[in-house]
Amino acid sequence: MKIEKVLVANRGEIAIRIIRACSELKLQTVAVFAKEDEFSVHRFKADEAYQIGAGKKPIEAYLDMDDIIRVAKQTGANAIHPGYGFLAENELFAQKCQDAGIIFIGPTVAQLDTFGDKVKAKAAALRAGLHTIPGSDGPVFSVEEVRDFTAKHGFPIMVKAALGGGGRGMRIIHNEEEIAESFARAQSEAKQSFGDDELYIEKYLEAPKHIEVQILADQHGNVIHLFERDCSVQRRHQKVIEVAPSVLSEKRRAEICAAAVALMKSVHYQNAGTVEFLVTPTDFYFIEVNPRVQVEHTITEMITDMDIVQSQILIAAGKDLFADLKIPQQAELQHHGFAIQCRVTTEDPENNFMPDTGKIETYRSPGGFGVRLDGGNAYAGAVISPYFDSLLVKACVQARTFIGAVLKMDRVLDEFRIRGIKTNIPFMQNVINHPDFIAGKASTTFIDTTPELFR
Ligand code: ADP
Repeated sequence: MKIEKVLVANRGEIAIRIIRACSELKLQTVAVFAKEDEFSVHRFKADEAYQIGAGKKPIEAYLDMDDIIRVAKQTGANAIHPGYGFLAENELFAQKCQDAGIIFIGPTVAQLDTFGDKVKAKAAALRAGLHTIPGSDGPVFSVEEVRDFTAKHGFPIMVKAALGGGGRGMRIIHNEEEIAESFARAQSEAKQSFGDDELYIEKYLEAPKHIEVQILADQHGNVIHLFERDCSVQRRHQKVIEVAPSVLSEKRRAEICAAAVALMKSVHYQNAGTVEFLVTPTDFYFIEVNPRVQVEHTITEMITDMDIVQSQILIAAGKDLFADLKIPQQAELQHHGFAIQCRVTTEDPENNFMPDTGKIETYRSPGGFGVRLDGGNAYAGAVISPYFDSLLVKACVQARTFIGAVLKMDRVLDEFRIRGIKTNIPFMQNVINHPDFIAGKASTTFIDTTPELFR
């Protein structure tokens, strides 16, 4: 089906990113916004903009499926791009779009169902022959089941929410004494954050690397990967800085990318998605699939010259990866140089990363060769509200060598002048200038175990 007009069911930088992709494809765009976002930049970038979720709390407005579909119908938008977060992985929303005759720019309802639940996702990965972290292979409902597992497999373990995301609903358990309390806490956290208290268990891997593979798959069975990203630099299991490609050996890279493609082929995946792995010196283990565009898709775009968001739209319109999108066959596909992304947030590193709010008094941004900025409300005079996540601007750089990219990022972070609001920029400079980061040694526990980064 031809896509003519796209409603963007999101806000901030990703809404702007999608609107830009649509404009380049000469598609009309419709923005939606919560009352609290009436002066947000994303609404002014679209051809039309409408308030949604009147009377609802700010985040709930963006989750108001029926109101979003109402706007799509009234404006004649025949496709909806959900971005990331909010409704991006909501199979009910995808179903409602389908029922209303609107194209959901993303995977199918069945694929969202499989990958929205990490227990189901692991089962799918096992069926496709991937290694998964030794674990409960299904939900665990009681402290006794956890004890049975540790009796066989030992400590440490991790309890994780089946519907978890954003690094929440996860707890490391080191010994017998911690089981009861940690299990109860993880359960209540999961219920509160994801509306479901289903948990599962995995062995806790000590200091692995987080490596993820970017996939594009069309409706005709073609699946390709756009190489991998290293997202090991995390704070409390949430990504802070990402690098593409990783420093893996060619052999290991090829194995991981092939495993990701095999999994996505096995479920007949459609659209863009990411297969995530934890990598140890001896093996690599599937952890989950993110069936949507990711925050860090930008660095893959920089090393492959492939527009992932435009690809999503064209794939949803039924186009063929090779015949229509003119993407080279896998064997000919190449990447060049290194790209790094820093997520600049309005968080105060000197105050335990508390989100800061208020007016940005001064905003001067970096630029120059090899620099890309994707921002939301990043300008002097913008008011940062407490209602939404604290991502201000994604700073990405690309250079021929990894050290060249590090030096460029240091210069870029130096060049920002943001006053009136605290940001995590000084902290990120500490990270990228740390010898372990420069040596490509940072694992997922790097930040949490390196106190000098916080000085
Ligand atoms: P989310 O969906 O919340 O992002 P993930 O399952 O993708 O959760 O895991 C996020 C991060 O948590 C991983 O990148 C890794 O740092 C850590 N993690 C998850 N599972 C394990 C595990 N079994 N052992 C060690 N670290 C883990």
